Amino acid sequence: MIKDSNRIVFKFGTNILRNDNGEISLTRLYSFIEDIATLRKKGKEVLVVTSGAVGLGAKKLNVDTSQSTVLKQAAASVGQQILMSIWQDGFEKYGICVAQILLTEEDFSNRKKYLSLRNTLSKLLELGIIPIINQNDAVSPSELEHVCFSDNDKLSAIVASKLDADLLVMVSDIDGLFDKNPKEYSDAKKIDVVEKVTSKIEKLASGASLGGRGGMITKLSAAKVVTSSGLYAMIVNGKKPQIIKKIFEEENVGTLFLPTKVLSHKKRWIAYATNIMGEITVNSGAKTALIEKQKSLLAVGIVDVKGDFKAGEIISIYDESGLEFARAVVNYNSDECKKIMGAHSDEIERILGYKLDDDVVIKDNLVLL
Ligand code: GLU
Repeated sequence: MIKDSNRIVFKFGTNILRNDNGEISLTRLYSFIEDIATLRKKGKEVLVVTSGAVGLGAKKLNVDTSQSTVLKQAAASVGQQILMSIWQDGFEKYGICVAQILLTEEDFSNRKKYLSLRNTLSKLLELGIIPIINQNDAVSPSELEHVCFSDNDKLSAIVASKLDADLLVMVSDIDGLFDKNPKEYSDAKKIDVVEKVTSKIEKLASGASLGGRGGMITKLSAAKVVTSSGLYAMIVNGKKPQIIKKIFEEENVGTLFLPTKVLSHKKRWIAYATNIMGEITVNSGAKTALIEKQKSLLAVGIVDVKGDFKAGEIISIYDESGLEFARAVVNYNSDECKKIMGAHSDEIERILGYKLDDDVVIKDNLVLL
């Protein structure tokens, strides 16, 4: 039940935080803050993922950032503190303390950094503080260059799934997912509940929104990540009054995505890793052993190795038709893998002069996609 969700991540897009003139929409933002403050007072743990730094900075500097990544980064640095001060002032009125957390993809892909981040965020929540999260645009150009998958929708999904939230709410300027493009078809109907983000559902998404970088495609990808981690996801329209309050009164607002399966923390970390350092292609026998018999991956089943990875990093596992079907933490580095591929485990020591493990990947470190 949505109203029983205890740990909730709210993601606010640029378009919903700004008015048509590109200025911050204080009425809307304060209404979100008021509803979130009520949830906090009821004991719920809340994390906020907020966009808007680039947009606010560009407005302040009176520059057009659309053609320049470095200008976007400069604008984000100016806009981030404006954005933060607005969230802080708002929550302070309700006696709630906030913390700023700026993240890059690398903070999740490196397990040590991830565990440390997880500890910090958990401590903040335990102290009753609301973490206000954005991408660290100033240091991470890649976050600003790509349109899909390097956006705050993805960031919010990773935060929600890796922090064991119960629910991710993506607050946008659209009512939810429609069966057809509502801008083109007047008879388009909102889909209230999605049981699983299938390829049919993904086909319903089209075009990225202006202003922020998220569109329906990135929202569905985010919904897929969180639901396959055992969480609920929602897309709601923040332009509708008191939308957050209504979600918890279980009014039929937005589109709700139901959880599909539950993965352990470690497996979530592997499955949704953002830094895949290499690729291993396996033969059909190895693929069957991994999928049907839940076995570990042995060198003998490997037919190709790509990339430059170290032991302990995450790699993708492909079949011979080029389909990525698993991700895993690898026990040998790329040079070692190239040398031992095709060999039986008892030959590893002779080939390398040492043997770190019988398996190239142990089954506990492998997630089927
Ligand atoms: N981090 C960017 C910003 O604060 C927004 C990213 C996005 O919209 O997805 O402006």
